Amino acid sequence: MKIAFIGLGNMGAPMATNLVKAGHDVHVFDLVEGAVKALEAEGATRGESAQAVARGAEVVISMLPAGAHVRGLYLGRDGQSGLFDALDGKPLIVDASTISPEDARFVGAAAAERGLTYLDAPVSGGVGGAKAGTLTFIVGGPEAGFEKARPVLEGMGKNIFHAGEVGAGQVAKICNNMLLGILMSGTAEALALGVKNGMDPAVLSEIMKQSSGGNWALNVYNPWPGVMEGSAASRDYQGGFLTDLMAKDLGLAWELALGSKSSVPMGSQARNLFALHSAQGHGQLDFSSIQELYRAGEEG
Ligand code: NAD
Repeated sequence: MKIAFIGLGNMGAPMATNLVKAGHDVHVFDLVEGAVKALEAEGATRGESAQAVARGAEVVISMLPAGAHVRGLYLGRDGQSGLFDALDGKPLIVDASTISPEDARFVGAAAAERGLTYLDAPVSGGVGGAKAGTLTFIVGGPEAGFEKARPVLEGMGKNIFHAGEVGAGQVAKICNNMLLGILMSGTAEALALGVKNGMDPAVLSEIMKQSSGGNWALNVYNPWPGVMEGSAASRDYQGGFLTDLMAKDLGLAWELALGSKSSVPMGSQARNLFALHSAQGHGQLDFSSIQELYRAGEEG
């Protein structure tokens, strides 16, 4: 299948690579030249613009940082027209970025006006899941579009959920990431408390993993450096899921709570922690670096 893939960052690059490995004809574009070159080396075909890669594609997949990028790509910005008005066919549009349900519905409605099917399909599973092809896709959109997308998504993920209409994928994803922000900061807090009181972080992690505090952060994403081989914490928090992206997702959760008059005290606390951590200059580190916030002044 001819697939256009736009956005080759920490997540998009391994996802597009897996589509190549699954035998698809993958045409790629990113604003960063190095990212495009790396995918070319994996067997993808490069394009000079989003319009160029989408030409003749059956499916267009985007994996961009935030809602403004997704709106800009499909609907245009700064007086320039967007991808929707430059398409030569009617490809299925799959946006895998994490954005607000409102942005997803806005872009979805614009797609529908042009006779295009749009799915919001945010993912969970991190860079590790993207590389291993074991992502969870949480899809919003019409059933027929979902069924058409399924075999393509199966080339990148293991669990493919249909959450409901356009926007529902984002609602579920935002709830999940609010919980992740809470449990990662809680895990960092517990580890710091234990270490301050003489515990070895690896021993404490193992105990909590097998006890009632066990959770995803402890199992696959331990935030303490050196405890888990291959974790972001063990490579100076480089790559992975950036603090700024977690702060963005917790902001999306906050907006969702405001709009639905929901109370999210734990989510608000987590948002403030990640916003503070970002303001202190750690926005481009993996989000598990929130551990450093709790370790500040440790020697004293
Ligand atoms: P990233 O910042 O590493 O990559 C985004 C890429 O999009 C960059 O390479 C950038 O150059 C490119 N880009 C931006 N605007 C573009 C445009 N108009 N045209 C072409 N390319 C453009 O981000 P990421 O970590 O890959 O995350 C992408 C999305 O997935 C985000 O919404 C994030 O919240 C979500 N997500 C990330 C993770 C994770 O672990 N990193 C996990 C789940 C979901």
